[in-house]
Amino acid sequence: MRAIELSRKAFEKAAKIFPGGVNSPVRAFGGVGGTPPFIKKAQGSYLYDLDGNRYIDYIGSWGPMILGHGHPEVLEALREALGQGLSYGAPTEGETSLAEAIQLLYPSMEMMRLVSSGTEACMAVLRVARAFTKREKILKFAGCYHGHADMLLVKAGSGALTFGLPDSPGVPQGATRGTLVASYNNLEEVREIFRNHPGEIAAVILEPIVGNAGFIRPEPGFLEELRSITEKDGALLIFDEVMTGFRVALKGVQGLSKIKPDLTTLGKIAGGGMPLGVYGGRRDIMSMVAPQGPVYQAGTLSGNPLAVACGRKTLEVLSRPGVMEEISDKTEMLGQGIRSLSHKTGVPIVADWQGGMFGFFFHSKPVRSLEEAKGCDSARFKDFHQKMLDRGVYLAPSAFEAGFVSLAHSKADIEQTLLAMETCLET
Ligand code: PLP
Repeated sequence: MRAIELSRKAFEKAAKIFPGGVNSPVRAFGGVGGTPPFIKKAQGSYLYDLDGNRYIDYIGSWGPMILGHGHPEVLEALREALGQGLSYGAPTEGETSLAEAIQLLYPSMEMMRLVSSGTEACMAVLRVARAFTKREKILKFAGCYHGHADMLLVKAGSGALTFGLPDSPGVPQGATRGTLVASYNNLEEVREIFRNHPGEIAAVILEPIVGNAGFIRPEPGFLEELRSITEKDGALLIFDEVMTGFRVALKGVQGLSKIKPDLTTLGKIAGGGMPLGVYGGRRDIMSMVAPQGPVYQAGTLSGNPLAVACGRKTLEVLSRPGVMEEISDKTEMLGQGIRSLSHKTGVPIVADWQGGMFGFFFHSKPVRSLEEAKGCDSARFKDFHQKMLDRGVYLAPSAFEAGFVSLAHSKADIEQTLLAMETCLET
């Protein structure tokens, strides 16, 4: 058993001042039980906690750390930016340079705006979509997460054909009255919603590969059909690539699928580990954002020079020949290894991956939606997660989260992970 005394004490202290002892809910390990390790430092593919335990990290700060922790070139870029001051609240060339780098990979983003988080990007993009279309309703999918704005906190699985109910106390009913919910990969539901609300839906927003209900891939034709349905109705299509952007491929799902959304949100890797989000898309739509247009959106720290420097360097390193391929190969090695554990141990597991993102469910059938994901053996996951931590592997503390591989992960890390998994499933 690993030592956890110092983390336990730190958690007790934190719980007196932070709700649940944390500053973002899933960090509290509520889904798996036990004490969350309190992290002292991170380097490469490893996290180190207060008690001196080392973990192979498959969370990567929930996505951003695709180059691994403390990449020397990213740190150097940050040091250089630090020397110039922390924040100006005035425009810089760095912001344009980052935006140009993003646009090269995401040509659908003809214009964009930098913000400070994925939540902010999703909240703002929907405001613009509603203003542009002069429509109020939005359609999202059960199990997709787009940040914690009121209108998006809609109970997953509450029924695709009814208006959503607030998922959290404190969200006014009015805020989610315009939010419609469909099951992921269920085109019939989408068609029916559009039949019931013709000309009323401003936008369809989705994770074009889901990571927030575990890893769920769109079925062939799903994204294409969403593109066609929205086009016919005059609704906008929004790809929330906060997680998938620069992760499943440099060019995201839109690059892989060749489907051009009207609007896109990015975050996580775009800031390389610093707070940064982006929303953007068609020029005619984005021209509506203030001060060019009437749709208000602003931010004291938007385009923060440190976040911009960190994101810019991260994208530069990631774009070098072979880098993304190396990350994909390592992820494939892990994914194939997890698949083969099912045969070796007799435990039903399904695994899938794309680029540097992977997921697995203790389930006997491939999972296509949140409803199906809920059928997985989450009690087994809980036990498994604890055992993996004891063997020095840090997986997301929930059966319904994707995992992330970085450039810094070595083949030895992956072999050690697979061995630990096999042992944990056999005991
Ligand atoms: N959209 C997606 C797909 C996400 O995965 C997340 C966060 O995990 C968000 C939006 C919200 O981003 P943030 O946590 O930076 O506010």
